[in-house]
Amino acid sequence: MSDVIVLGAGVIGSAIAYHLARDGASVTLVDTAHAAASKPAASWASAGGLRSQGRHSQDQPITKVAAQRWKTLSDELDANLEASFGGHLHIAETDSDVAVVESRIASDTDAGLPIERVTGARLREIVSTITENALVGAYTHGDGQAHPGRTARAFARAAERLGARIVFGQDATIEACGDEIGKIILADGSSLSAGTVVMATGAWSIDLLASLGIALPLRWRGLQMLLSDVAEQQLAPTVTAVGRNLSLKQTPSGEFMIGGRWIAAPAPRGIDSTCIDAHVARQWSGAAAILPALRARRLAQAWSGVEAQSIDSLPFIGRTDIAGLYLATGFSNHGFQISPQIGALVASDILGERQPLLAPFDPHRHRGAAAETIAAFLSEPIDC
Ligand SMILES: Cc1cc2nc3c(=O)[nH]c(=O)nc-3n(C[C@H](O)[C@H](O)[C@H](O)COP(=O)(O)OP(=O)(O)OC[C@H]3O[C@@H](n4cnc5c(N)ncnc54)[C@H](O)[C@@H]3O)c2cc1C
Repeated sequence: MSDVIVLGAGVIGSAIAYHLARDGASVTLVDTAHAAASKPAASWASAGGLRSQGRHSQDQPITKVAAQRWKTLSDELDANLEASFGGHLHIAETDSDVAVVESRIASDTDAGLPIERVTGARLREIVSTITENALVGAYTHGDGQAHPGRTARAFARAAERLGARIVFGQDATIEACGDEIGKIILADGSSLSAGTVVMATGAWSIDLLASLGIALPLRWRGLQMLLSDVAEQQLAPTVTAVGRNLSLKQTPSGEFMIGGRWIAAPAPRGIDSTCIDAHVARQWSGAAAILPALRARRLAQAWSGVEAQSIDSLPFIGRTDIAGLYLATGFSNHGFQISPQIGALVASDILGERQPLLAPFDPHRHRGAAAETIAAFLSEPIDC
């Protein structure tokens, strides 16, 4: 019997397992897939952006510490996470967009984040090939990118080196005994038990929660990503733009990677998705409008992965009404940047040191919310 079983070896579950093992707990990390961050998990598909600006006020304190941890995480985990820190640039193309960027700069400055207002020559010094339409930018120089799959696998391997047991290739179901957590039943018929079970199963959490009679305002969506062919290095920061579904970066090997919350089509059955051609075309042209150099490139790859989204875009982290069941799910399209610090905070919280920074993510926070609002969120049509 372990102290803690972590279900799900995406970047969140793997980070939690690593920090628990580092803090002396006996841990078992379980995943349906044969490796951490496997298709179609969010951590497999993710863009890997490390953006600290423009965050929700509730996760900003965590983001700030996470940004520092990313600087040394490759060394800490003894792995090449392909982390680079070219900054993040959020641009405005119209006068009304400028007001949005100014407001982001004001609120992030108030929150103590070093953020620079950039225009003209300074803006083009950061990205020389940016669209002529870029009027003003918000620039955070310490932000960057890393490889999500490598990061999840590095956390899992580091957990294993610290003594964690890894059980991959086994779908897990959870038994509850009344209002207490019971056994974890694995696909091969064997079972595991622990004082605490952490559900870090991303999009799959919805069905697992339902099997335990827990209903949360949580849904899943497929999100698509594009990759260009290899180009000369010319884009150091990650880039977003007001009013556009866009995240744009250049990988260390030279491809442009384009995200921006473009929805993929849900698979007819099960939890998976496929790219939508019309969305691929608009995703690409939106990116080329911001970085015209993309017009000379070709699309090399498109993929999609599944993400759990909560009604307020904040994760559900903490204890539930089932004693021993702890949630860490619903990271709503922005869980990668905060993953190292979520791992540290959740491990401490489970091992007895309550973490006030996790309070805004209480799984019970929507109790009493209007049923119609929740129903509308859960049934919102997917624009295919
Ligand atoms: C396309 C895309 C782009 C993104 N870009 C960014 C970005 O630039 N920056 C950022 O910060 N965030 C980004 N995100 C969000 C971020 O990647 C996710 O929030 C994060 O990866 C979520 O990780 P997770 O571990 O919670 O879930 P997942 O990675 O989905 O992992 C869940 C795991 O649970 C396992 N599992 C499921 N059911 C079971 C079961 N019954 N038993 C055992 N195991 C099970 C699955 O196999 C899977 O490995 C992006 C997400 C997507 C989809």
